[in-house]
Amino acid sequence: MAKGRFVLSFPPSLVGEPLTYTLVKNYNIITNIHRAKITPEEEGRLVVEMTGELEPAIRYLEEKGVKVEPIAREILVEEEICVHCGACVGVCFSRALSLNTETFEIKFDREKCTLCEFCLKACPVNAISSKF
Ligand code: SF4
Ligand code: SF4
Repeated sequence: MAKGRFVLSFPPSLVGEPLTYTLVKNYNIITNIHRAKITPEEEGRLVVEMTGELEPAIRYLEEKGVKVEPIAREILVEEEICVHCGACVGVCFSRALSLNTETFEIKFDREKCTLCEFCLKACPVNAISSKF
């Protein structure tokens, strides 16, 4: 079983298609949608984590006309630089960054991160970066 994060881009003609439902039902893929931008007249974009037999699932998506791009990027929080001010926590809507209320130190949960990069701009000491 493999696991990966992907950006799925699909044309307006596919916006109404039950793509993630088909992935779950026909390909036994566990999907975890991190971010979705879907409007009827425009291209749709999903940031999704998929777990399962990925090859046939990706083939299905590509045959449907979906562009599938693996995400190699990740957010890094440098503990030596961080001053635990908490500014990044307030802009992290996915709660990947949180504050430990006992130690007052921030915690980063990579699994929850949607790569929105809001935290990069919020950090006053540049402790957060985005790496490929
Ligand atoms: S990029 Fe930063 S703000 Fe966005 S989800 Fe990840 S940790 Fe949170
Ligand atoms: S904003 Fe920067 S310095 Fe403040 S808690 Fe977040 S990573 Fe640390």
